[in-house]
Amino acid sequence: MKIDLEPIIEAAKTANPQMPDDYRDEGTGLLFCGKCHTPKEKNVKLYGDERIVPVMCRCASEKYEAEEAARREAERQRRIERRRENCFGYGSRKASFTFDTDDGGDPQTMKLAKGYVERFEDFKARGKGLLFLGGTGTGKTFAACCIANALLDKGYSVRVATFAEIAAKLQGNWDKEEVYKELARYDLLVLDDLGAERQTSFMDEIIFTAIDTRSAAKRPMIVTSNLDGTTFINGGELAKNRVFSRLYEMCVPVTVNGRDRRRERMMAETAADMAMLLNAGGN
Ligand SMILES: [Zn+2]
Repeated sequence: MKIDLEPIIEAAKTANPQMPDDYRDEGTGLLFCGKCHTPKEKNVKLYGDERIVPVMCRCASEKYEAEEAARREAERQRRIERRRENCFGYGSRKASFTFDTDDGGDPQTMKLAKGYVERFEDFKARGKGLLFLGGTGTGKTFAACCIANALLDKGYSVRVATFAEIAAKLQGNWDKEEVYKELARYDLLVLDDLGAERQTSFMDEIIFTAIDTRSAAKRPMIVTSNLDGTTFINGGELAKNRVFSRLYEMCVPVTVNGRDRRRERMMAETAADMAMLLNAGGN
């Protein structure tokens, strides 16, 4: 079959038009670019005929490559932002937790979190995650979300969820199997604030199944909790013992001892309000 090449040749000429500085090579008679001095035409055999077809000179092809690279990079950024929105949920404050916004209050935990990002390929291959344990407001969620954002930037798929959210989905109109399957899909799953959800046997089952799903898929997760994991390991409630036994297998336990920032913020606000009230009260 003979393809009509004329439109293709015309399009190539339009994309790389002849410029005033261009010149014809004396030997070959081919058109050369006046800027980069490489050919804009080439002799080819087409269906037995010799003919001259336009080609991109070096500067035109460099410009084309640069535009393509910029287009690919813009597409990559768009994909990352779509994934970030899906990761944290639209408008979530957690999306703004990044290593750049760290206040330096807990360098040890942050160093470790950065190390996890650095070595993520190794940890991912072993299905090994982190278990951030510590009191309320110490920065466990912050550290976990910094890791999530850094891995999103690197092009990984990440999801940050709470058990309450998963429970709501399971009770809603979602296909239950699909809810768990989705949790297994991400390169990293962050399960935030284990222990904050309502304590019911329904919830215990969800917690165990979610963790077990990741374990079966051999994919890593990061879990944050203000529960004291070790007390459950050594006995205690059966449901929690089961959960923490699995978590200690799958995660490196990290005790976060950061300052209680929530409390500090509240204290500062209270002090400011007190000062205002006392000032306004006069003598
Ligand atoms: Zn050129």
